[in-house]
Amino acid sequence: MDKEENKKPIEISELGEFGLIDHLTKDLTVIDKNLIKGIGDDCAVFECGDICNLVTTDLLVEGVHFNLIYTPLKHLGYKAVAVNLSDIYAMNGTPKYITVSIAISRKFSVAAMEQLYEGIKLACDRFDVELIGGDTTSSLSGLFINITAIGQAKKEDIAYRSGAKKNDLICVSGDLGGAYMGLKVLEREAKLYMDDKDTQPELEGYEYVIERQLKPEPRRDIVRELAKRGIVPNSMIDISDGLSSELLHICKESGVGCRVYEEKIPVHEQTEYVSNKFRLDPSLAAMNGGEDYELLFTVPLDKKDIVESMNDVAIIGYVCDAKDGGKFVAKNGVELELKAQGWNAFNK
Ligand code: ADP
Ligand code: MG
Repeated sequence: MDKEENKKPIEISELGEFGLIDHLTKDLTVIDKNLIKGIGDDCAVFECGDICNLVTTDLLVEGVHFNLIYTPLKHLGYKAVAVNLSDIYAMNGTPKYITVSIAISRKFSVAAMEQLYEGIKLACDRFDVELIGGDTTSSLSGLFINITAIGQAKKEDIAYRSGAKKNDLICVSGDLGGAYMGLKVLEREAKLYMDDKDTQPELEGYEYVIERQLKPEPRRDIVRELAKRGIVPNSMIDISDGLSSELLHICKESGVGCRVYEEKIPVHEQTEYVSNKFRLDPSLAAMNGGEDYELLFTVPLDKKDIVESMNDVAIIGYVCDAKDGGKFVAKNGVELELKAQGWNAFNK
């Protein structure tokens, strides 16, 4: 390789989101003895006396993560909190506090910000979380919302991405692909509206998928049910980027492979109906759509009867050796390599 080539700057799009995070943080060393997990899971974890604290943060950018043409600000506030709480539940923890930082451009009114905070406060009330601070500043273009959530868990209760064991059952809560199909419907209506401001949106029959997109519910109920049944999952992650991407995170961090079966993947009938209308494969929406904020977890095989008795939990496959790779077994029996085609902020 000649010197010129050596100097060629790396494009962010070559690295992708996770490649960039790795690149920027690879030389960090863990110094504090109380830090149990830094970068690389749904939350950072550090020990404080008898309890562990969990910390996660998420940034939402207007025009990238939300479109205010079809997103009511109250819903946006609720969702901004919900996605952070989902990361706390994904560690099998209990959220306690949030901070909220916003950057606002001149187009926003006080009333608009009040609506945003109505949604934020509603989520706080519903999930018993307290808003304890934040930061407020101006923006040259649109709205930015950054929320940090702080939660707690007993050390022995925490579920990491890295704990999956061979022969574990792979389980998922709720149903998948709905949020993506909701986004498709809303994008279509937004485009029609931009072309002709007099058009009325046609949203009848799409309520479920739209709600999945605009108002995701973090799965505290599942975490509570697991606790009631005495189960600490061997591994857990929330599904923000699509099932494929999250399965691969668990496989990579746990040093295992997996097999999931298309016929077992839970898809709501409205998701299927809307997918067909858009001529999309509902399984693709489930595998790669993202934003469902369901929980993906693995449990030892001997917990089969218990997870089978749980409401709204499906067993979709099992954990195998790393050398057997990550596989999606289609309904026709064909095995496909799992690929993380989920949302990638840096795709060209
Ligand atoms: P999630 O999808 O669960 O919110 P992410 O995929 O956003 O998690 O992040 C993966 C990991 O990388 C997390 O541990 C997160 O804290 C960390 N991370 C993300 N962005 C950065 C950054 N700019 N600098 C340092 N760590 C980061
Ligand atoms: Mg997560």
